[in-house]
Amino acid sequence: MALIRDSGNIKAGDGVVTVNGWVQDVRNLGGISFITLRDRHGTVQITMPKKKIEPELFESLTRLSRESAVSVTGEVKESNQTALGVEIIPSSVKIHSEAASPLPLGVVDKVNAEMDTRLNNRFMDLRKPEVRAVFELRSMAIDLIFEAAAENGFVCVNTPKIVASGAEGGSTLFGVDYFGKQAYLAQSPQLYKQMLMSAGLDRVFEIGPAFRAEHSNTNRHVTEFISFDGEMAWIEKEEDVMEMIGKLIDRVLRGLVEKGARQLEALGKEIRVPELPYPVLTYEECLKIAVDAGLPLKAGDDLGTEGEKIIGDVMSSKGHDLYFIAEYPEEAKPFYIMEKPGTQYSYSFDLDFKGQEISSGGQREHRYDVLTERMEKKGLNPDDFGFYLDAFKYGMPPHGGWGIGVDRLITKLLDLPNVREAILFPRDLGRLSP
Ligand code: ATP
Repeated sequence: MALIRDSGNIKAGDGVVTVNGWVQDVRNLGGISFITLRDRHGTVQITMPKKKIEPELFESLTRLSRESAVSVTGEVKESNQTALGVEIIPSSVKIHSEAASPLPLGVVDKVNAEMDTRLNNRFMDLRKPEVRAVFELRSMAIDLIFEAAAENGFVCVNTPKIVASGAEGGSTLFGVDYFGKQAYLAQSPQLYKQMLMSAGLDRVFEIGPAFRAEHSNTNRHVTEFISFDGEMAWIEKEEDVMEMIGKLIDRVLRGLVEKGARQLEALGKEIRVPELPYPVLTYEECLKIAVDAGLPLKAGDDLGTEGEKIIGDVMSSKGHDLYFIAEYPEEAKPFYIMEKPGTQYSYSFDLDFKGQEISSGGQREHRYDVLTERMEKKGLNPDDFGFYLDAFKYGMPPHGGWGIGVDRLITKLLDLPNVREAILFPRDLGRLSP
């Protein structure tokens, strides 16, 4: 029986091995032919001196179309002509599935395909090592989030994604007909993770989908994204939450640098790990920076994409890629955020990464009366939120939390031009398939 090897672990002296992969390239030079066989880890060369190979085998191998899925069995020989230092002289091949041609998308061609063509043929796009590397790093980042959250005493939870009411404003709710009743796809786990604070779990986190009927066609908005949400009880101030986020993200960044070297190299990227604690600017300070740079903003205005970018540039020039923007006007924030007494501000913050928001968070309003007042002020009917408000009537600890967009985190971390690059099958205004 031949050993099963891949391009990551094959070596001289292995004897006869079988390698599974896709035919990246076939070069027939008459007396000798070569196949570049690509698998998840890289490529291996199949060398076919015509005289030493069965004519039928030579014929079937040299005729293979690019991207066909095959298993090649043969002897491993040392070679100073290949990057791996070995080549395989084939003795048999199993053709599992011959690729049709032309290909919908080149895998190794240097021509840059349009994003739409790539997403329409994502299965093929993902065969590119640099595209696959993004998702391998993303997988590592999620593993690291689990590790870091557990180390800090967070319990992993799963909350419903079909819900009766939204938490983040009505304009981005997707309606669902739930057996004749109006239901929605969850915009965030906000209400549920807060209810769990009254349940005594103290620290919970969730990594799950969030749905937003975003009508904006931007490079950072999609309609379905993955959110890393956390909520922690018995906090004294919003800074406790910021400190925790810093700790968790730092752990993820350091872990990626340590474990993701191969993938980062495939992408040609480096991860810079900023020092802790991440600096905190107030909304007012940011507004001033944006206005001084020429943006026509007035007190209370959203900083907007432009404003965020200006602040990002200022912070990057000081060596800060990650920073908090705190104390947003309470009017701009949802009902569950705690107001800063005697001001028009709130105990809320965003975490920005090089000029783009990747997370929002803050201290929540845990006092039942104040919370219902805030709901009314925001035009919501507390009766629609009875299931949530009940949890505030019988002993709710002070608490706070965050929602980090995993897709945006990966996008910024790897300096990708569009959040869709970090999502396997993105959903947006114009895309529902594949
Ligand atoms: P933005 O102002 O950028 O639209 P938001 O204020 O609506 O974001 P939050 O409701 O605070 O976002 O959500 C928390 C985090 O979830 C954001 O910081 C972001 O990382 C992520 N997120 C929110 N909406 C989207 C979206 N449409 N696509 C991708 N990620 C999103």
